[in-house]
Amino acid sequence: MIKPAIVIADDFPQVLQKLRNDLEQKYSDHFRIIGANSGQQALDQLKQMNLHNEPVALLLVDEQMPEMGGSEFLKEARDLYPQAKRILLTTYADTHAAIQAINSVADWLASYHPPFAALRVIDHRWSPRLHEIMDFLARNQVPYQWLDIENSKEANHLLEQLGLDDKQLPVVIFPGGSYLVNPTELQIAEKINLKTHAEKPFYDLIIIGSGPAGLAAGVYGASEGLCTLLVEQEAPGGQAGTSSRIENYLGFPAGVSGGELARRAVTQAERFGAEIVTPQKAVRVEVDGQYRGVDLADGLELRCHALLLACGVSYRKLDVPGIDALTGAGVYYGSSIAEAMSCSNEDVYIVGGANSAGQAAIYFAKYARQVTMLVRDESLAKDMSKYLIDRIEHTDNIEVKTCIRVVAVQGKRHLESITIVNDKTHEEKTLPATSLFIFIGAEPCTSWLKGVVKGDEKGYVLTGPDLVHEGQPPKGWPLEREPFFLETSVPGIFAAGDVRHGSIKRVASGVGEGAMAVQLIHRYLG
Ligand SMILES: Cc1cc2nc3c(=O)[nH]c(=O)nc-3n(C[C@H](O)[C@H](O)[C@H](O)COP(=O)(O)OP(=O)(O)OC[C@H]3O[C@@H](n4cnc5c(N)ncnc54)[C@H](O)[C@@H]3O)c2cc1C
Repeated sequence: MIKPAIVIADDFPQVLQKLRNDLEQKYSDHFRIIGANSGQQALDQLKQMNLHNEPVALLLVDEQMPEMGGSEFLKEARDLYPQAKRILLTTYADTHAAIQAINSVADWLASYHPPFAALRVIDHRWSPRLHEIMDFLARNQVPYQWLDIENSKEANHLLEQLGLDDKQLPVVIFPGGSYLVNPTELQIAEKINLKTHAEKPFYDLIIIGSGPAGLAAGVYGASEGLCTLLVEQEAPGGQAGTSSRIENYLGFPAGVSGGELARRAVTQAERFGAEIVTPQKAVRVEVDGQYRGVDLADGLELRCHALLLACGVSYRKLDVPGIDALTGAGVYYGSSIAEAMSCSNEDVYIVGGANSAGQAAIYFAKYARQVTMLVRDESLAKDMSKYLIDRIEHTDNIEVKTCIRVVAVQGKRHLESITIVNDKTHEEKTLPATSLFIFIGAEPCTSWLKGVVKGDEKGYVLTGPDLVHEGQPPKGWPLEREPFFLETSVPGIFAAGDVRHGSIKRVASGVGEGAMAVQLIHRYLG
């Protein structure tokens, strides 16, 4: 059998030779490594191989080649070998080439991980601000390095050089050497060139929230010609973006991390021309005749033809003594890769018995010595999918304790112990603990919408048929027609995903509703 080929094209003989040597050393057992010193030569080679039905696994090409550049070559090569993986070599700063390539060639950027940029965060492990900053950077896909002031000589040395002391932490040092002391997320975002403010005062469609529902609406809205803005207060991806592995979303048989899914969706939405601003919070909605208005936390007042609420839900807080002071210092809502790493070889407690808690347990079990799930119900079967229960049962270092509630947490500078009660035996115990991750359900992010659109008793937004009673539309509804399926009690304001009353809380249903909302918005605009 002929080995599949890896084809390299670079006009610099030394670079070509080096790439060839490296690849040959590692992959020659399973692949043929073929070099070409121009795009045209590589293309001729591919045509020959195609003629003989020889397989090609990977094309690795330099963007900066005379006559035929790398992107042009990849475009041509796609017709010959559509299944081959493609790598375009550019300088890190040449994002223009990357975007060009992505538009015409592939979803290259979606899986592109830029090399480690020297953004450093200095603080001690139990600092709540450190936790928030690391979460913000990780969820926005910004590579960073955490330097623990208690263990890192480099951290102390850097602080000394900057003339700062450990009372001014956290300090964020950017590539190039500039730094910020205890910055807000918005300040960091501005320094690293995230898009933080809307470009225009008016859009066809403004979407609040960029979880699965908002991102799907962004892709469909922009691809169908609507001038579309997404406003996101934390990071694109929403709840799904915090998931370590989503295994039940169609098209990803081996599962996909929430971060990866979010990165792909953002690339796709931007590729169609959607604008995404983050971190930026929508604080008020208003109705201005035929226009809908949104005020943002930065003071901008935007107008649009149609507004989509895709603002989802956020973690419900555990209301027990001691918890507020320790949140971010051993007590966390949700989980992130950064925390999993810092729990290496430690014992971790997880509160909750639904899918998000199950995923976190499996993820933490890779790093922690022991993971203990504290579940209020009698078994996991009530709220968790079977595939996760099976996985938990087969993971040696996960223990599930049922009929258990956490009733207090203790610690001076950080979490030191938790008190739990067994609801069957009424036995109360205090256990040493340094990490407690809480997943006890969620509440809709709708407090800012009160008085504008109608909601149910829990605050979820009512839409379509849920607003119509005995054939009558809601009070104050100004039109002859009834509200569309995803339309709220205000014409032109729609809701999709977890924020909507009665929605199925899943990635796929959020995506589906986001796509569907755009169709209904077209009908509304029509
Ligand atoms: C840890 C975890 C694991 C999960 N795993 C799975 C899984 O494996 N499979 C599955 O199908 N589902 C899973 N889910 C559920 C799934 O992620 C959600 O159903 C889905 O994310 C809902 O999408 P959404 O877009 O409606 O809302 P969200 O994902 O909640 O996104 C809403 C977004 O709106 C933003 N926002 C809120 N208010 C404002 C405002 N005022 N201004 C600007 N932005 C705002 C938020 O910051 C957020 O980014 C998981 C959930 C969690 C938490």
